[in-house]
Amino acid sequence: MNPILRPAPLPPAMAAGVDPGRAALRVTHDPTTLVGNTPLLRLAAIDRELSGVEIYAKAEWWNPRGSVKYRAALNMILAGERSGALTRETILLDATSGNTGIAYAWIAAARGYRVRLALPASASPERKRILRAYGVDLVITDPGDGTDGAIRKVKELYAANPAAYFYPDQYSNPANWRAHYEGTAPEIWAQTEGRVTHFVAGLGTSGTFCGTTRRLRELNPALFAASFQPDSPFHGLEGMKHMPTAIVPAIYDPTLADENLDIPTEEAYAMVKRLAREEGLLVGVSAGAALAATLSLAQRVGRGVFVTVFPDSADKYLSESFWNED
Ligand code: PMP
Repeated sequence: MNPILRPAPLPPAMAAGVDPGRAALRVTHDPTTLVGNTPLLRLAAIDRELSGVEIYAKAEWWNPRGSVKYRAALNMILAGERSGALTRETILLDATSGNTGIAYAWIAAARGYRVRLALPASASPERKRILRAYGVDLVITDPGDGTDGAIRKVKELYAANPAAYFYPDQYSNPANWRAHYEGTAPEIWAQTEGRVTHFVAGLGTSGTFCGTTRRLRELNPALFAASFQPDSPFHGLEGMKHMPTAIVPAIYDPTLADENLDIPTEEAYAMVKRLAREEGLLVGVSAGAALAATLSLAQRVGRGVFVTVFPDSADKYLSESFWNED
């Protein structure tokens, strides 16, 4: 079993002595109250092989709709509401590899907004089905162009009729990385009681890596931060970008990383299976890549408290053929 290391600080009602069992059974119809405070899992079966090393992963599928992108999607929607750019008369428009779109779709459905999303045809069938189930208007783009094709399509649609849309543009929106600066990082800090020495995260929009690293560095200037990306333009790491060949997100700051690792898709698949069989964790492919990157760093460094992020669970990837190979 994976022990949950330490829960984040108690919500006020629980801290004030309300029966925790009852406080946990809260009643809400407001999705904005359900975000973050995800468990930090110790990967004990895996780090046992490396003395002096502790490896932890943020279990981001604990977020509503099962992914890390709920944090950024919610923060961008709230910023749009505050600025007045998002109204019931506008349509929320963005490019996504799936997870941000799924988070937008849920929040928008609950708050009465319409959503139009461009998504590469290569996104997993499960992602497309979930988005269609929410009534999202999907614009499917060429799979060969990856998320860059979806970005170009959205820019075209927006340019043709800017008044019709609220275009949060997750690749350029500071509310994306700020969700991690204000949420993910302080949670990691509290859950490790300030012991984190190394932080490792993958690059999609780069919001998770940039926001979390910025805040953790303020808390511990000696923090070592490693980013990772797919090792080639054609890869199976859904949600990740191969920066040398992709449209580089405006929010990406390459100077934040002490090191940037290239991860082959096959290594990510092998780690996904390892996590299922050794830790009992069914995670997504980018989480497998996160473990591959963290292990390669931990093996070289030999000591430290390593924290990475597991962006989603395996549920949306169960149709992938790598599960059939042993
Ligand atoms: N993994 C998955 C499965 C994702 O959907 C995403 C988001 N595109 C990422 C990793 C990367 O997260 P970020 O956009 O914050 O860099």
